[in-house]
Amino acid sequence: MQRRILIKYGGNAMTDPDLQRQVVGTIAEMAQSGNEVVVVHGGGPFIQEELDRAGIPSEFVEGLRRTPPEAMPHVSTALMRVNGSLAGLFGTFGSRAVGLTGRDARTITAHTHRPVTTTPDGDEQEVDLGLVGDVGEVDTTLLETLLGQGHIPVVACIATDAQGRDHNINADSMAGHLAGALQVDLFLVLTDVDGLRRDPKDPSTLIDHLDQEQARALFGSSIQGGMIPKVEACLTAIEHGAGEAAIINGTRPDAIRSRTLGGRSEGTTFSLTSRNNVPMGPSSSELIERDVKSYVPTFARLPVAFDRGRGAWLWDADGRRYLDALSGIAVTNLGHAHPGVTQRIREQAGRLLHISNFFVSRPQVELSERLTRAAGMDRVFFTNSGTESFEGGVKLARKRAAALGRGPVIVTMERCFHGRTMAAMAAGGKQQPWAGPMPGGFVQVPFNDLEAVERMLTDEVAAIVLEPVQGEGGVHVSDPAHLRALRELCDRTGCLLVFDEIQTGMGRTGRLFAKDHFEVRPDILLLAKALGNGMPVGAFLATEAVAGAIAPGDHGTTFGGNPLACAAGLAVLDQLEEPGFMDEVRRRSDLFEEGLESLRQEHEMVHEVRGLGLMRGVELTSEAKPVVKQLLSDGVVANATAGNVLRLLPPLIIDDTGIDHLITAIGQALTKLKDKS
Ligand code: PLP
Repeated sequence: MQRRILIKYGGNAMTDPDLQRQVVGTIAEMAQSGNEVVVVHGGGPFIQEELDRAGIPSEFVEGLRRTPPEAMPHVSTALMRVNGSLAGLFGTFGSRAVGLTGRDARTITAHTHRPVTTTPDGDEQEVDLGLVGDVGEVDTTLLETLLGQGHIPVVACIATDAQGRDHNINADSMAGHLAGALQVDLFLVLTDVDGLRRDPKDPSTLIDHLDQEQARALFGSSIQGGMIPKVEACLTAIEHGAGEAAIINGTRPDAIRSRTLGGRSEGTTFSLTSRNNVPMGPSSSELIERDVKSYVPTFARLPVAFDRGRGAWLWDADGRRYLDALSGIAVTNLGHAHPGVTQRIREQAGRLLHISNFFVSRPQVELSERLTRAAGMDRVFFTNSGTESFEGGVKLARKRAAALGRGPVIVTMERCFHGRTMAAMAAGGKQQPWAGPMPGGFVQVPFNDLEAVERMLTDEVAAIVLEPVQGEGGVHVSDPAHLRALRELCDRTGCLLVFDEIQTGMGRTGRLFAKDHFEVRPDILLLAKALGNGMPVGAFLATEAVAGAIAPGDHGTTFGGNPLACAAGLAVLDQLEEPGFMDEVRRRSDLFEEGLESLRQEHEMVHEVRGLGLMRGVELTSEAKPVVKQLLSDGVVANATAGNVLRLLPPLIIDDTGIDHLITAIGQALTKLKDKS
């Protein structure tokens, strides 16, 4: 698997020319075997030589070289010499390295470092270190571009502040920040010893692994002197999004090779402290602690606080990156921060948010027309959620039944899920004694069982409601012949057929609606979830004949279908109806299906793989929750449903690399859990 690796290069591995050749050769080999590689380097001994030559005395304060303005050009000269020669050396191995500094393309903006010390009289005093800088803002655009073109960026530890003054940045610190911002899979700090030792003087006390909290507890004892910035850099990297960070011996090219190319755990590895086995940074931890005190505990939440997303990726509050294979439970089908959706919402938010359904608005009229056309239905009513779409659909079916002298019974399927209002709970057979009297008139039959439906079907029945692919119930696909037979049965008896496509709609199954796979038109179609790609908007759609049963005052909503929600719906349809878009979704779905099938063949724990398009369930031979937790700790968001089903709902825009990443991650998670058991 291709990985992104950032190497902090320095120390003796840099001053001995033979060793330097071997190390650079190893790094070049890493890049040539398909990895994306960035090198960040310092150059202490070379800076020392340069300053000695210029007759500028060197002074260190808490491990940092005081850099008065007259010394900075010499520091710069020394670092640029190292930078040029390293980039050139990569060239001799056939690699295309590009030498640069933090100042190029404003990759790093520096802030002058002003530590505060306490004087013997107990007063606090700022220490003037001259042009020593801290890393401020990081902009990875240039580095991403270079990596995308197959270059090895070789970055010298110089950056400018907002006024354009060059600063001397500690190379470990700069490397750690860049590793985090670039979300590298592996951050390696090369040093002159095999890793961190519990007793710094005793090589036999090497520590292989520390989590963040364990590492912090060792500052001042095991972590001293030059190790302090190296450990700090590793912690910065993992807290900001790097997958793994390690300090290893850079004087042993075999160690670098076996760590990066052979997958062995050389040196000391640092990881985030975990809760429930999921690693958590300090910001996530703080938010989760606050959430526990204020949110009604309706969900057994996983210990991650998300902060932002783009496409198929999410970042938590500490900048750690996750592949989203859940899409907020089939909601963000177009991925996070989709430019078309964002733009439409922005424009509409500045124009008109809400007017009530006493009035007409252009976004609602346009969405009504386009959605009914796309779904092959005649009329639509907008809601705010799936459960409201279900309630509205049931009310409509019952109103129509009453008008025709039929009874109000709604037939639903075993394992179905239609929401969490009282009627939706009753429909799902989820009566709870504490919930008090529940709405009546709901009966369940087994899924895909025509005879069972036929036995139920009297004039008392208003409608049959089903999910063409059951979601929460464990991803079960309807038998096409059964759906067609149900349609015929309804046509014969006058009962309505209602499809709950709240989860399966809007492209999820590889067609705009799952019903399109089966070529069956329902009388009522329920939608929500992905209709607004995250804006709360749902709908029930109906044929002209059925919709005619409703009269003003029978149903309504305050928010439902407001201009903002409808603007998001229009942006979603724009994308789904883009020529070729759904063809591409189907191609990706096939790739995904193949990958899951290979997992079924390779892992005994996988019993069955089911689903359509990008809605897949992997039925395991044991509980799915541990797999979900393992995946989360490996940076993948998925979900467990029906106890032993791993439910995968990646966004429709996931690319081939994302699918490959997801399949590999599931395979690795299954292997890890098997090894643990
Ligand atoms: N119907 C189906 C098929 C669903 O999957 C869901 C939600 O998961 C709902 C209804 C309820 O939707 P909401 O949570 O928006 O009320």
